[in-house]
Amino acid sequence: MKRVPGMWKFVVMWKWVVALMAALVLSGYAQDASTHGIVPGNMDRSVKPGDDFYRYANGDWMKRTEIPPDRVAVDVWTKLSDQGDKRTADLIAEMAKSSAPAGSEARKVADLYNSYMNEEEIEKRGLEPLKPHLEAIAAIGDKKTLAYALGQALRADVDPLNNTNFHTVNLFGLWTAPGFHDAEHYTAYLLQGGLMLPDREYYLSDSEHMRDLRKKYQTHVAAMMKLAGFSDTEARAARIVALETAIAKVHRSLDDNQDIHKSDNPWKRGDFATKAPGLDWAEYFRGAGISHVEDYMVWQPDAFVGEAKLVETTPLETWKDWMAFHLVESVAGVLPKALAEERFAFFGKEMAGAEKQRPRWQRGVFVVNDLLGDVVGKVYAERYFPPEAKAQGEAMVANLIAAYRKRIEGLTWMNPSTKAEAEAKLSTLYVGIGYPETWHDYSNYEVKADDIFGNIWRGSMADYQRQLARLGKPVDRKEWSMTPQTVNAVNLPLQNALNFPAAILQPPFFDPKAPAATNYGAIGSVIGHEISHTFDTEGSTFDSKGQLRNWWTPEDLKHFEAATAQLAAQYDTYKPFPDLAVNGKQTLPENIADLGGIAAAYDGFRASLNGKEAPMQAGLTGDQQFFLAFAQSWGEKLREAAEREQVMTDSHSPGEFRACTVRNNDAWYAAFDVKAGEKLYLAPGERVRIW
Ligand SMILES: [Zn+2]
Repeated sequence: MKRVPGMWKFVVMWKWVVALMAALVLSGYAQDASTHGIVPGNMDRSVKPGDDFYRYANGDWMKRTEIPPDRVAVDVWTKLSDQGDKRTADLIAEMAKSSAPAGSEARKVADLYNSYMNEEEIEKRGLEPLKPHLEAIAAIGDKKTLAYALGQALRADVDPLNNTNFHTVNLFGLWTAPGFHDAEHYTAYLLQGGLMLPDREYYLSDSEHMRDLRKKYQTHVAAMMKLAGFSDTEARAARIVALETAIAKVHRSLDDNQDIHKSDNPWKRGDFATKAPGLDWAEYFRGAGISHVEDYMVWQPDAFVGEAKLVETTPLETWKDWMAFHLVESVAGVLPKALAEERFAFFGKEMAGAEKQRPRWQRGVFVVNDLLGDVVGKVYAERYFPPEAKAQGEAMVANLIAAYRKRIEGLTWMNPSTKAEAEAKLSTLYVGIGYPETWHDYSNYEVKADDIFGNIWRGSMADYQRQLARLGKPVDRKEWSMTPQTVNAVNLPLQNALNFPAAILQPPFFDPKAPAATNYGAIGSVIGHEISHTFDTEGSTFDSKGQLRNWWTPEDLKHFEAATAQLAAQYDTYKPFPDLAVNGKQTLPENIADLGGIAAAYDGFRASLNGKEAPMQAGLTGDQQFFLAFAQSWGEKLREAAEREQVMTDSHSPGEFRACTVRNNDAWYAAFDVKAGEKLYLAPGERVRIW
């Protein structure tokens, strides 16, 4: 690909905002190091389990826990993230001290981290690093050059399936993944983009909260432009926000984004000019370095039509201001304090409700994980995930798969042909435990001491080029989409694969010394959750080879849709705030996965006992511990702003309602003697059963 000197690129900073909002915590979820299994001290036994199981499991912890000022949430995940961060930070510190030779991976980690931490140097350089980029934008003289520049900003910064990230501040975003119709080769997926706020709803919702937020946003845009040296910033901000609002109007909703069938739109490169006129596509592709790529999958064609038209109908000067603002905002975290603080004042405080920034070292760890994640991950896995833990995790996975196999065989409504493909999916499923089998190569990423702006710029570019280089090449089904130090788990439907990083396979999710009841209730349900995704609304659209193919018969689908509609309706009734309910449709695939996950985990747990009774803990039976471990794994405290944002934009329900899914499980009723009249009680016919 051609490199143009002085060309500017957007850096994906949205992920950083998300991380900031996911907000790690130091005072984490209480777990006495000397005990293993559930934490009885976190329960509130004055609450009836059948009335509010979530508070029964977590009530005392919630009462005594406060969200620290630099956080927007506290939960098990933040505790593990903190632990992962601390360990990662220690590894980075070691690499920084080891005086590794120039060009080595350890040296890159050291230089990246140290350059991020060197605030003095950042202040000294001021707006200097930004200058050539702003000048390039100022020099854009016509819509043709604009198209080229918009193309130059394209990055591999979205991922609609594996990590469900639909947001890019650039006009469009690229994802390289196995093809919907050719799972053997990497294909280019293009997604809508162009908004700075997380989703179209932020621009279009009529709620008072959103109207107020928009006002504050426009003030923030003006402030950032002023700090970046622009004049007439009020008028510019008004035009930028108006353009983003126009883009929001042509964007697809989150619900629609998750509908795979609406995303199966193969376009040839030549189709763009006729299907989406208004943008000089030849220039756009040339700027993006993809003029040679013939085939694309366009996730939201209507948005491409609308956004291309906006390029034509909106004045050039407005687009240039939009570009300048998006650039400044995206890199503000590594610009002088005044800009970084203005950014935090809006995105951290107003948007997420955090009171102060997380310590710089933690943000530095995030940067290293983002740009050199596998270098750290390799050492992390060696140190914190011993072979015994890997073996135990793999045994648990085998039990969960066996449980699913049995459940699927036993389904009376599923046709034999559908069962056969489900079985094939289970048999070919790749389950990665702890860490990947191969590691990313960072040899094309140049990291310099004391140049954080350039390091970030080159990092996102190196990643983009790595992704471009593999287009059309054979797919590695065992490639991971998360680093070992990530506290999360993921299902990769196009690879028929699951990843469980080392950092989530830690207490209280997974503790080799804890009773089986709690390991199955906590991490077992997470593993079961991910396996469920291979059969759910997403999974039913991908076959055992990862091809986009509906392997359900129409009757199977009818039953499945009826059962899942019932679950969507159940979640629609949950109201975290009087004016805001959980969106059952938006959260459906995740809620199905929770439901299937806990059911299979329960089977796996019972099977692991080999007919014996589980040992009691704190006067609780094995079954009680199992469900409590599940509910305790969802204990959380969230600031209102963050919870509102989650309810509006996230495909996962808040922890409280995830924990509530136990009410669909017969064994839970038996374990806690839950009776009709109690708030969570569902008559047997009302309990949703999918697998
Ligand atoms: Zn999920």
